[in-house]
Amino acid sequence: MNVATILKAKGNEVSSVSPEMSLRDVAVLLSERRIGAVLVMQDRKVVGIISERDIVKAVAKSGGEALNGPVREVMTSRVVTCGLNDSVDELMDSMTTGRFRHLPVIEKGEVVGIVSIGDVVKHRIAETVMETEAMRLYIANG
Ligand code: AMP
Repeated sequence: MNVATILKAKGNEVSSVSPEMSLRDVAVLLSERRIGAVLVMQDRKVVGIISERDIVKAVAKSGGEALNGPVREVMTSRVVTCGLNDSVDELMDSMTTGRFRHLPVIEKGEVVGIVSIGDVVKHRIAETVMETEAMRLYIANG
């Protein structure tokens, strides 16, 4: 199972914000869309990623006033990405090593989707269930 399979099931929609958007507006967007992170785009290029964790960190440091600040001050600029042919195992490795739960998918220089840890776990479980069932049939049929 690879990234292309995951995107086939979940679609290619990717939410993005501008670096100048306020943290308050990002928080509203994350809440409304029930997602944990958005890409930060400028001139159709990925310039960062901001997750709910960045907003929590900013509020913990500076209080509610932090919500008036812009995305560019708290986003992560060095964004780790994945490709359509990457396996679920590679995604898990990348998320564990980087300690983050979101990976944008890049194909020919364009963003074609975003995979979250929830998607990875869902597909991992489906894969395990299929393997177990195949094994059960193999044993049952001798
Ligand atoms: P998350 O676990 O996705 O909420 O993110 C935890 C931290 O990692 C936050 O500071 C994010 O800005 C950052 N982050 C999330 N995804 C990525 C990514 N793909 N590449 C680099 N940093 C990321």
